[in-house]
Amino acid sequence: MNTLTSSHLRRPAPPSVPETGLAGSPTPLPATSATETFPEASPFGALAEATPTSAELGFYVHVPFCRKRCYYCSFNTAPLEDRASVERYVRSAVTEIELLRAAPLNGRRPEIATVFLGGGTPSLLEPDEVADILDAIRDGFAVAADVEITVECNPESVMHDKLVAYRAAGVNRVSLGVQSLDDSILPVLGRLHDARGARAAFGAAREAGFGNVSVDLMYGLPGLDVAGWRRGLAGVLDWQPDHLSAYGLTLDAGSLWGATGAPRVPAEETTVAQYRGLCDAAGARGFEHYEISNWARPGSRSRHNQIYWRRGEYLAAGPGGCGFIGNVRYGNTKPLARYCALVEERRLPIDTSERLTERQALGERLILGLRTVDGVPATDLVLRTADDATLALRVETWRERGLLRVDDGRARLSEEGFLLSDALFVELL
Ligand code: SF4
Repeated sequence: MNTLTSSHLRRPAPPSVPETGLAGSPTPLPATSATETFPEASPFGALAEATPTSAELGFYVHVPFCRKRCYYCSFNTAPLEDRASVERYVRSAVTEIELLRAAPLNGRRPEIATVFLGGGTPSLLEPDEVADILDAIRDGFAVAADVEITVECNPESVMHDKLVAYRAAGVNRVSLGVQSLDDSILPVLGRLHDARGARAAFGAAREAGFGNVSVDLMYGLPGLDVAGWRRGLAGVLDWQPDHLSAYGLTLDAGSLWGATGAPRVPAEETTVAQYRGLCDAAGARGFEHYEISNWARPGSRSRHNQIYWRRGEYLAAGPGGCGFIGNVRYGNTKPLARYCALVEERRLPIDTSERLTERQALGERLILGLRTVDGVPATDLVLRTADDATLALRVETWRERGLLRVDDGRARLSEEGFLLSDALFVELL
């Protein structure tokens, strides 16, 4: 049986977490190993010979600080200890962006279509620090006139004035980490806000003029029953966010609960019921279920995350940030001190890199595209199954069961197919 503890519904690992593999997320597939030798002498490392093929790029910036580590979290983040380390980080991020600007990229200079400050808790940055990072990107790259610029925010670290200043710096989308509106569950997770604070932060974002606000929720949480999930979900939908991301709790290696286990995790049937309830409730409120774990009002899909799912290209900065240019995936070193030291030597802080084969690229296109309602070209599926009778049979079985359909030349999973997709994805890759 396919379980919800499999990776496809898990909370999004940001592009900073290379070990997440098939994670159910905006996560681009990371470089897992150095499969080829890149010119070590070059300060540009794996990017020395990478050639972008797209006209547009995304740009991910990882901010590796949180006030406190949540018990389920395995991301590359550490408790914020002093402003001096934040200031050193911001200087390093700006320098890294300057180095990326100087990377040869074979003479190609695609436009930056989206910028995503993820973490960590990017809303711990002061507005002038966010402005410094965004200015560095604008100074170094051609930026699209309609660029989408998202900052992940936690409710306890945003207020009206900060959000107004973020807007002035160019931020035009906020992704708010609410996770739950249950004040008996939030502290169990190690979160620092309560339901009232979450509502206030959402309202502050609207009052600051953000017309594009996304809310992150989690289900399958300790002590969360189906009725409680429905209540919290309805509460968030009443706010009328533009976009909703929701992930099932997983006990990942690297998190406290991955080591110790979590208290009172609901039965799998309960978690499945919560996911199905979410699909129904979001659909009834006019949201499009456009990716396994993401819902959007018409016109409000996350453009940045769609770059990942469409296997587009993106640069990344910050400790642990992962980028993808040409056929090269790369991941930055994760420890903050090492990251800063490398950048201060004016070297790109790339730690892992991988040049992908055609076969790998095909597998990635399939598993990323099938996460979405847009699906993949049916010809890609035919190509992948051509020399694999077992896989071809599996795909045919999925079609017969209504989990996968092919029309208009595209293969797509149904909502029930989303739920069971992990088993298929493992084979497709
Ligand atoms: S706020 Fe987010 S990134 Fe920070 S510890 Fe909690 S889950 Fe992890």
